Amino acid sequence: MFVKSIRTRLTIWYTCLLTVTLLIVGGAAFALLSYSLSHEMDSALDSVAKTLVERDQSRATTFLPSEIDQAFRRFFGFSPWDHYFQMRDPSGNRDEHRSLPSTGKLPLSSKALNNAMRGLSSFETVEGLGEYPVRILTMPVMESNRVINMIQVGMSLKSIDETHLRFLLIMAGVLPLGLVLAASGGWLLADRALKPVDRMTAAARRISAEHLSQRVDETGTGDELDNLAKTLNQMLTRLDAAFSQIRRFSADASHELQTPLTILKGELEVALRSTRTPEEYRATMESALEEVDRIAHLVEGLLLLARAEAGVLRMDRQEVDLGQVLEEVYLRLKPLADSHRIELRLGTIEPLRIQGDPERLQRMTSNLLDNAIKYSGAGGRVTLGLQHDSNWAFIIVSDTGTGIPIEEQKHIFQAFYRTSEARSMAEWGTGLGLSIAQSIAAAHGGNIEVESIHGQGSTFRVSIPIVS
Ligand code: ADP
Repeated sequence: MFVKSIRTRLTIWYTCLLTVTLLIVGGAAFALLSYSLSHEMDSALDSVAKTLVERDQSRATTFLPSEIDQAFRRFFGFSPWDHYFQMRDPSGNRDEHRSLPSTGKLPLSSKALNNAMRGLSSFETVEGLGEYPVRILTMPVMESNRVINMIQVGMSLKSIDETHLRFLLIMAGVLPLGLVLAASGGWLLADRALKPVDRMTAAARRISAEHLSQRVDETGTGDELDNLAKTLNQMLTRLDAAFSQIRRFSADASHELQTPLTILKGELEVALRSTRTPEEYRATMESALEEVDRIAHLVEGLLLLARAEAGVLRMDRQEVDLGQVLEEVYLRLKPLADSHRIELRLGTIEPLRIQGDPERLQRMTSNLLDNAIKYSGAGGRVTLGLQHDSNWAFIIVSDTGTGIPIEEQKHIFQAFYRTSEARSMAEWGTGLGLSIAQSIAAAHGGNIEVESIHGQGSTFRVSIPIVS
């Protein structure tokens, strides 16, 4: 059976461990108690026997029952019951006159007899004399190294058996009670310790994609559960940021697509409202084509970004003459710069061959150059240059344009981000140019950095590894 609740599992484990511990401790206590009771019994029997041996050595003709009782009482510390005394001659025959008649006869084993003949005492436990087993000590009475008699003293093990039974009864009562109490305590402790987990589970259930700003409670204790709550909250913060970015991206993309589509629809509706001359139709269709181009451009940009984000941007890698790529871009954009009365210069172009996709590299460079032209007023200057060290190629695009406020510089590589100044300056532009350029640089193992002073101009520096 598999128990799902950690609380129950902990309690079961805890109770099982405690049961085993209590059984081991109880068993050890029982063994210790047994040993010490037997030891006490043997040493008391020994003392009684020695007292009686001394008395025999002083030639006592007989032993009065009261004397024997007294000896037992003296060493057993209480009024003993079922005690035995027996005198035997050196051959082991029972001396009826000097034995205690009230209790039964003690047997003499051959081992005890042999020991006694050698002057040694023997302890034995025998059954069958009464309700309980009897502990017997056989001790020789010596005179001038000769055995003159044997004394046998015995004591019923009733008191020891009863003590054992009492101990077992107490254990049988206390153990289950202790276990029930400990299990309840364990359950309460586990319940208390796991309460924060329940709260976290409830909070995590409430948090959905729409409520990612909510957080689970942190206790601030710094323990494992508090760390778990902190980690969950950090994960939620990252998820929240990622979801917001996706939502913003979708909203911006829809908005950017909606504008040209609305214009396109309007133009077509107007054209269809009444009969037009072929020239008018042509003008409408040309304007519509422009909007379609804009939409296609936007969709193509979005697709490129989505592929780059998913890591599946197709790259036609080959050896590329980077200087030649830059010159081609320069030549293509020169007329645009001229039309804005901007001086477009081709700076130092060091001959350099790298591994890359020439079309993507052109796209990246023209995006940067296009921006530099867009955000420089008439009379401005834009320079395109290529430098390198042993490992890296650096494409540098600098302009004397508007520049970018420092607090906005960290946002400009995000898709659809445009500074308000840019919006008012250049109507064309989707806010995707820099994100696309950055994605292409990243796909080549490189990166784009910007240095800009608001009002003075900007320098974009693309670093691309020469061999990637
Ligand atoms: P856009 O289509 O608006 O040019 P980009 O992604 O190419 O989109 O650029 C994002 C924003 O970065 C621009 O809107 C503009 O605010 C800023 N920016 C980019 N290049 C320049 C530059 N050379 N000078 C000033 N601002 C720039």
